[in-house]
Amino acid sequence: MRAGTGYDSHRFTDDRPLVLGGVVIPDAPGLAGHSDGDAVLHALIDALLGAAALGSIGLLFPDTRPELAGADSADLLTAVAKRLETEGWRLVNADITVIAERPRIQPHVSAMCRRIEALLDVPDGRISIKGKTNEGMGWIGRGEGLAVMAVALVERRSG
Ligand code: MG
Repeated sequence: MRAGTGYDSHRFTDDRPLVLGGVVIPDAPGLAGHSDGDAVLHALIDALLGAAALGSIGLLFPDTRPELAGADSADLLTAVAKRLETEGWRLVNADITVIAERPRIQPHVSAMCRRIEALLDVPDGRISIKGKTNEGMGWIGRGEGLAVMAVALVERRSG
């Protein structure tokens, strides 16, 4: 088995919907970025790549590639999952923490977990997501953006 960690942060912007964990969250500012800004999926992708020692999201999907502008991060995640499968790795579990002053994450946790499990084609219960505020401190506390931390465990596929 191997473990990997991932981190991502994005600035809020009012001109697009908020997409987190592959789920559109209504009544909240979106996240700026070259892709759809889905920091949950980006941190998870880096944790998966880290666990398998396959590089990073920035190496695989550089923001200098125009065809990735506005990309659906769900597509990036499934591409990475396929890469891990090819290399003989299977997800055991992943634990993700979203640090945001707003919106509240908890009401959307279940939808995000089920969407990610569906994208990765793993059973329910393999993905955990927790929301925290930053107690009003710093750039997160001022509502300038949000940050995500992820840990993923992968194992060698037996057959
Ligand atoms: Mg990102």
